Amino acid sequence: MKDVLVVGAGPNGLVAALELARSGLEVEVLEAAPAPGGGLASGEFVRPGFVHDRCASVMPLAVLSPAFARLEAGLRRQGFAWAAAPRAAAHLGTGPPVFLDRSLEATAAALAGDAGRWRRLFEPLVHAGPALFEDLLGPLPLRPRRPLGCAWMAWKGLRSFHGLARSFRGRPARELLAGLAAHAFLPLERAPSASFALVLGLSAHLRDWPFARGGSGRLARALAALLEERDVTIRCGVRLRRPSELPPARAVVFDLTAWNFARFAEGALPEAWLRRLRALPPGPGVFQVHWALDGPVPWRDPRVGEASTVHFGTLEEIAAAEAACWRGRMPERPFLLLTQPTAADPGRAPAGGAAVSAYAHVPLGWAGDATALLEARIEEQAPGFRERILARRPAGPRDLEARNPNLRGGSLTGGAPFLRHLFARPVSWRRPWDTPRPDWFLASASTPPGGGIHGMAGWHAARRVRAFLGLRA
Ligand SMILES: Cc1cc2nc3c(=O)[nH]c(=O)nc-3n(C[C@H](O)[C@H](O)[C@H](O)COP(=O)(O)OP(=O)(O)OC[C@H]3O[C@@H](n4cnc5c(N)ncnc54)[C@H](O)[C@@H]3O)c2cc1C
Repeated sequence: MKDVLVVGAGPNGLVAALELARSGLEVEVLEAAPAPGGGLASGEFVRPGFVHDRCASVMPLAVLSPAFARLEAGLRRQGFAWAAAPRAAAHLGTGPPVFLDRSLEATAAALAGDAGRWRRLFEPLVHAGPALFEDLLGPLPLRPRRPLGCAWMAWKGLRSFHGLARSFRGRPARELLAGLAAHAFLPLERAPSASFALVLGLSAHLRDWPFARGGSGRLARALAALLEERDVTIRCGVRLRRPSELPPARAVVFDLTAWNFARFAEGALPEAWLRRLRALPPGPGVFQVHWALDGPVPWRDPRVGEASTVHFGTLEEIAAAEAACWRGRMPERPFLLLTQPTAADPGRAPAGGAAVSAYAHVPLGWAGDATALLEARIEEQAPGFRERILARRPAGPRDLEARNPNLRGGSLTGGAPFLRHLFARPVSWRRPWDTPRPDWFLASASTPPGGGIHGMAGWHAARRVRAFLGLRA
């Protein structure tokens, strides 16, 4: 009998398995897909020679995550490396492009009338430094390591985007912040959408918004290799549908989102608790398209080609689009996010070519095809884009869910981060990784700190398992 079973080999499951194996426990990982990685997956599935990321691509939280910091030397030993583009993000809204750069000063200076406001907003956070992420990527920080940084984040961030944007005068700063806040998948008038703008802006100013060199699957493979070094087996192609299918173990960690776990645990856990899991709102979904191009995207402004990520939309468009998605209506001009890994890692395409992906926020479970809409939006900003397309591969909400049952209706957040679900996620704020069964734990993006590649949910769940098994942290 193993000490611990981990169900699901996403970044959180893999980090949990590694943390527990490092404590000397015998661990086995069971994964439904043919390969480990979950949201970390890449390959030549669009056209031979072009490496695209299937899900996660730009990973600002991973490079600031304490969980990955502990693994950094091991990952490097496995040949893993980050690749950063010259700029973190570009925003294409009302006027000329606006850029989010590593340099706070350069970003602020380009915001003309709002330069001082941008500096004043981010300086206290930048001053708190990367250690602030130990507080931000944890449970509710009752004894924060960086109290001043946390207080500033709470004051400025625990409000709606509109509340934050009011202190800025010009469109460039407001639209740059709106693109960052839209990562919350919340209506912009709802708190704490501002906190996403702050965390993502800060992450750019502290580190980069990097890609995994060679594709995000490389990070999954490096994590799997570290597990192999510790004799942890990962059994792929094993989808667990009910508790009776679980091999015996002293404890089980589930890298499953709230709804996925509720379906699995039906009949095995109190119905009242499962109802609360199911009540976590998934939020909107995404419609994604990958393209293989015979040259870089022909942006009107070539500086946009230097950005890892490009956000599209005026303030009004983003606000209307996010609200429409929540009402179940497909917006005319959805919020659009494009990533261009070849800006950082040219080896992902044959010489001169480019691998590009984009997704639009769409209503949960939307069944339409947004490929033409996405291409038209890009064409507006990059005339001649369509002529560069060698191959494309769309994936709607249903395709995403079919590949990974965690992605209900194409939702990639593990649950919308409304104020009450920011820390009390999915149910309790005190021990969010615990379940009513003392030997079962949750580790997915449905627990704090939520969606994204950071491995911290797995890290916290592993801590709870160690406490349950009576081991020292
Ligand atoms: C299209 C898309 C783009 C994204 N872009 C980014 C990005 O650029 N940057 C970023 O930081 N984040 C991004 N994300 C979000 C990120 O991928 C997720 O937040 C992250 O992967 C969550 O990690 P996880 O370990 O909680 O779960 P997952 O990555 O979902 O992994 C869970 C694993 O469990 C397996 N599983 C599920 N059910 C079972 C079962 N019953 N039995 C066995 N195995 C099971 C799944 O197959 C999967 O491998 C994106 C997500 C998507 C879908």
